[in-house]
Amino acid sequence: MAETKARAHAAESEVEMADVVIVGAGMSGIGAAWHLAQRLPGLRFIVLEALESFGGTWRVHRYPGIRSDSDLYTYGYSFKPWTGAPLATAEEILGYMGEVIEENDLGRFIRYRHRITAARWDSAAASWMLEGCRTGTGQPFRIAAGFLWMCQGYYRHAEGHLPEWPGMERFGGRIVHAQNWPEDLDLANQRVVVIGAGATAATLVPAIAGQCAHVTLLQRSPIYYRSGRIALPIAEELRELRVPQEWIHEIVRRKIQHEQAKFARRCVTEPEAVKAELLSQAREHLGPDHPLEPHFMPRHRPWQQRIAYIPDGDLFRCIREGTASVVTDTVESFTERGIRLASGQELEADIVVAATGFHLSVLGDIPFEVDGRKLDLAQTVTYRGMMLTGVPNLAWVFGYFRAAWTLRVDLVADFVCRLLEHMRQTGARQVEVSLRPEDAEMPLQPWTDPEDFNPGYLTRGLHLLPKRGAKPEWGHSQDHWEDGKSFPAIAMTDPIFVYR
Ligand SMILES: Cc1cc2nc3c(=O)[nH]c(=O)nc-3n(C[C@H](O)[C@H](O)[C@H](O)COP(=O)(O)OP(=O)(O)OC[C@H]3O[C@@H](n4cnc5c(N)ncnc54)[C@H](O)[C@@H]3O)c2cc1C
Repeated sequence: MAETKARAHAAESEVEMADVVIVGAGMSGIGAAWHLAQRLPGLRFIVLEALESFGGTWRVHRYPGIRSDSDLYTYGYSFKPWTGAPLATAEEILGYMGEVIEENDLGRFIRYRHRITAARWDSAAASWMLEGCRTGTGQPFRIAAGFLWMCQGYYRHAEGHLPEWPGMERFGGRIVHAQNWPEDLDLANQRVVVIGAGATAATLVPAIAGQCAHVTLLQRSPIYYRSGRIALPIAEELRELRVPQEWIHEIVRRKIQHEQAKFARRCVTEPEAVKAELLSQAREHLGPDHPLEPHFMPRHRPWQQRIAYIPDGDLFRCIREGTASVVTDTVESFTERGIRLASGQELEADIVVAATGFHLSVLGDIPFEVDGRKLDLAQTVTYRGMMLTGVPNLAWVFGYFRAAWTLRVDLVADFVCRLLEHMRQTGARQVEVSLRPEDAEMPLQPWTDPEDFNPGYLTRGLHLLPKRGAKPEWGHSQDHWEDGKSFPAIAMTDPIFVYR
């Protein structure tokens, strides 16, 4: 009802014009805005952000210990040197983003508390009509945009994925989701169970281990951990040599990218060797007497799921010291006092934290129409993970799984700026990627190969995502080292791009 009203109001409201609208002011949207402002000055663009401020992921997630899993040399932008320790807290990342906005006067382009609720492409006008409302007041707005740059992230920000376990209602303690961490949650003397295996659980458990009576990590199956030092010797050495920050940033970025790409390839070409290396790190931190079976011996190949980084083995240290423990089992039901597991064991708890992942949100849950037809994303084919067949004048940012998200933000931004510049020079008003005659027989597959990478939020939502074909240009590569070479070489005159 409220939405119908907002629509009716929006239909009456004034239409503002923009050359480009960027959706979202997280790492992707702020990066996109920087590139546009630098590369195409004079272009009228607006960043629309539903939240009250910038940061996206780093503003939404508030659980104890929240930090990056990636190093900030590659997670930071190419254009702004990172000068702190390699890993950063959410606060530090927000600080870094704030500096990017401040130093480049990007604030004037951003509209906070603006949620887009509909996007309609009209070929006759060669423009997107965006409708939305101001969060808080509900006041509608309409913007006509020549190009839409979707930087909305990949999950629903309002709530995390919470499975419905039997008996939850009878549990006498408190159940919270890591994504919606309550400010008033007091952990002192509490027995906490964290459900889930992944980066969130691996960060949260050591962060709260000293604050509560005991914390148990309950996982369905084990994952791999990397447990390197937090420091980067090369960065420290270059600093001692008083090498300029810009150089240090670039050198360290390249080194890390190169090493990560090599590591990701080794996970496919010699998975057993990589597995042995990762397990020996675990053994080293847990101590020789601590068995790796069953909690630390994954069944999958390294990198089929994200490998969690635990700086200086902090999670292992808590387990060794006894402030944290791990249980590998499945929740059968909640009881009054805790969780009954499939094995029959009962885990007593005062607080249960679900670190059970996300709800995949494709294109910000915005209903899209193209020339009056509802857009079904699953019927489109991805062009290098940044454009979609049948969807004109739209770029999409979806970062890397196995490397820093932001590496792709910069690459996509460079591509979009070149595309927009090409359109300006040639007078084209519309661009669309289209399968060529030689692609006609190409079999189409789900967006990612579950054999290659299969976190829960993706497998649950794969049917909602675009398809991929068996050619590099029709897939979403995870090889940033290769993309770093191939993206800048994309010719805007390639027949894949159909201009009007
Ligand atoms: C806890 C956590 C830790 C992570 N750590 C890492 C890491 O170490 N390394 C890594 O590479 N990745 C990490 N990730 C992945 C992370 O999401 C990305 O790195 C990155 O932050 C995504 O940035 P984004 O701008 O694309 O999306 P988001 O950060 O999700 O921001 C998207 C923004 O778009 C806005 N938006 C969405 N829909 C609309 C709409 N309809 N109208 C208006 N605004 C809208 C949202 O409000 C939000 O602010 C982590 C994710 C989580 C949850």
